[in-house]
Amino acid sequence: MAVHTAAPDAPAARATSADFGPATALSCRECGERFPLSPIFACESCFGPLEIAYELPVGDPEALRRRIESGPDNIWRYAPLLPVPADVAAHPNINPGFTRLVEARNLARELGVTGSLHVKDDSGNPTHSFKDRVVAIAVEAARTFGFTTLSCSSTGNLAGAVGAAAARAGFRSCVFIPHDLEQGKVVMAAVYGGELVGIEGNYDDVNRFCSELIGDPLGEGWGFVNVNLRPYYGEGSKTLAYEICEQLGWRLPDQIVIPIASGSQLTKIDKGLKELIQLGLVEDRPYRIFGAQAEGCSPVSRAFKEGHDVVRPVRPDTIAKSLAIGNPADGPYVLDIARRTGGAVEDVTDAQVVDAIKLLARTEGIFAETAGGVTLGVTRKLIEAGALDPTLSTVVLNTGDGLKTLDAVAPSCGPSAVIRPSLDAFRAAGLSG
Ligand SMILES: *Cc1c(COP(=O)(O)O)cnc(C)c1O
Ligand SMILES: [Zn+2]
Repeated sequence: MAVHTAAPDAPAARATSADFGPATALSCRECGERFPLSPIFACESCFGPLEIAYELPVGDPEALRRRIESGPDNIWRYAPLLPVPADVAAHPNINPGFTRLVEARNLARELGVTGSLHVKDDSGNPTHSFKDRVVAIAVEAARTFGFTTLSCSSTGNLAGAVGAAAARAGFRSCVFIPHDLEQGKVVMAAVYGGELVGIEGNYDDVNRFCSELIGDPLGEGWGFVNVNLRPYYGEGSKTLAYEICEQLGWRLPDQIVIPIASGSQLTKIDKGLKELIQLGLVEDRPYRIFGAQAEGCSPVSRAFKEGHDVVRPVRPDTIAKSLAIGNPADGPYVLDIARRTGGAVEDVTDAQVVDAIKLLARTEGIFAETAGGVTLGVTRKLIEAGALDPTLSTVVLNTGDGLKTLDAVAPSCGPSAVIRPSLDAFRAAGLSG
């Protein structure tokens, strides 16, 4: 049985030939006004951000659970909860998701966690970051709207994800990054054959430039996955919530620690968890959401600690470049969620980021990029401060692959010795044991 989850008297909003599955409209996050599903991202009345509204399949959780469990081992198993047609798995797409959820016993011991501790390792996606999830949905929307060029403003990982998805799905791509990113990110953004443009400035400059391009004839026919396709893009992050709960045996974790760049991922994980509760797929009980930033780009953390509702923009300066957004669009919503769920937003220094990357590698054999170091570093800090309860179940996100940010750890990771190929030399090095 399908039940309207929001205003049932909304106008027939569906574009005529487009199939967005259970999605029915765009809805303003601020004033609730509804708009047809189209490539727009801001409310015409109040300029608030738009998000997808659904008619979700409420009523028979067992049937829905079975349908999900018999689906493909990627995000399309959750197609009934996403703005995509039911046959989406047959489309050319990079098919991300269903990454491993690692039970981190060694790490738990090290951190003094007595409840369960898991790492959701999204480095296992096709282009080695969580961005493949959001791009996969945006690509489906871009195809439906008839865009021929895919674009984005990126802190690094998004550019690679768009390049790969465009190559596979048959779009031209032209992506924009700050000119001074890590080599791993630049190469990964370029290797798929699309256009890659380095902008002389930081991410916030890149983003402003892309907003101008959208309004100009130069950008006509372009789908910017995180600008004019942002409402669709954002929904991809809900699949992290779905997967974590399914992999825990259809249970909510008590606490989740999530990195913040624009804040989109954190807000959509919360949306996903709420949907699972509403659908009866998990028990209705409280969970706490924690946000993680690097000290060198911590506008949301600062606002949280100062008790402010507004996020004052900063100029980023941190090795966690994938999180270096000084003016995070979803910052105020992140504050709401952290406060409403009894969570927190915290930040760590670059040195603590490097320590955390090495801690995760040493304890669990997982090599995280700097964003993962931020998240684990903040987890550790929150445990020490008593803000995160070590007796409860906790999930920490690793959103990217350490191979993309080698520079962060290279100065402190190298050979234990370089020796001649002889037993004498090895003995002299003192490494047998
Ligand atoms: C983009 C990104 C995030 C979070 O992005 P939001 O803009 O907050 O959704 C987290 N980790 C990595 C590695 C990223 O590339
Ligand atoms: Zn509005």
